[in-house]
Amino acid sequence: MDIERENALQNDFVYIEGKVPCYQSRLFSANGIAHAFFTKKGGVSTGVFESLNFSTGNGSIKDSRENVLKNHAIAASLFGLTVRDICRSVQTHTSTVETVNSSHRGKGLTAEPFDHGVDGMVTAEKNLLLSIRTADCVPVLLADKEGKAVGAVHAGWRGTVGGITVNAVEKMVELGARRENIIAAIGPCIANCCYEVGGELFEAFTEKNESYSAFFKPKGEKFMLDLVFANRFILEQVGIPPENISSADICTRCNGDRFFSHRLSGVDRGTMSAAIAIKNVNRF
Ligand SMILES: [Zn+2]
Repeated sequence: MDIERENALQNDFVYIEGKVPCYQSRLFSANGIAHAFFTKKGGVSTGVFESLNFSTGNGSIKDSRENVLKNHAIAASLFGLTVRDICRSVQTHTSTVETVNSSHRGKGLTAEPFDHGVDGMVTAEKNLLLSIRTADCVPVLLADKEGKAVGAVHAGWRGTVGGITVNAVEKMVELGARRENIIAAIGPCIANCCYEVGGELFEAFTEKNESYSAFFKPKGEKFMLDLVFANRFILEQVGIPPENISSADICTRCNGDRFFSHRLSGVDRGTMSAAIAIKNVNRF
């Protein structure tokens, strides 16, 4: 579908084909929250990493550190920030969320911010850019409407069933955010059209909560898993009002021209970023 038609049809998200192409949540923009769900466009990497790639890679082909740094600088520039304002963690499909502050500024590119896997971060610090990486997994950005805290979460199936978005909400509440003021944006990810999974995932979810069976549609011996619905459902369960949750509803695997997709390309591919910051002047 062409972008103009997509933008006209979509209620929740809009594609901005600006200096650095990205998707934004209309809900977040209406509340003046600086955020972006980047696509694979607008960076300097080439080959399978073309072009806005945020990781040197896990496969046999590697992107250069220099390119990855440049791409981070490009992303930060959209926020009026630099790579020294970014915090990114080593993501290992945990449900661990950490609160980060000025001591974490610039970490993750030059020095590791944590000695363990961290898949979600929240902060009350201004101009600190939280960056998480995905290529099919669900990127969830969170913000307090009053600007008290923001969060960024990498929610694959493990993080989702482990309650990573719940952990992020709890940590934002610790920072002074009220649940009714928290807004969420669920970014482009693999959708239920393409996310075929085995019975072991159905068991992992329903063992945690029987009502989680609603996230699965049977398909022969397998299931189609809807992680967008899952994250929306779980956020509502912890007190986020339904009208405070927006979602892109764009499948990364179906749209390989715009997104890196693990299911489409395997390990030799780039990785995207979703990023959020509390800005001094909270207009983006
Ligand atoms: Zn799809």
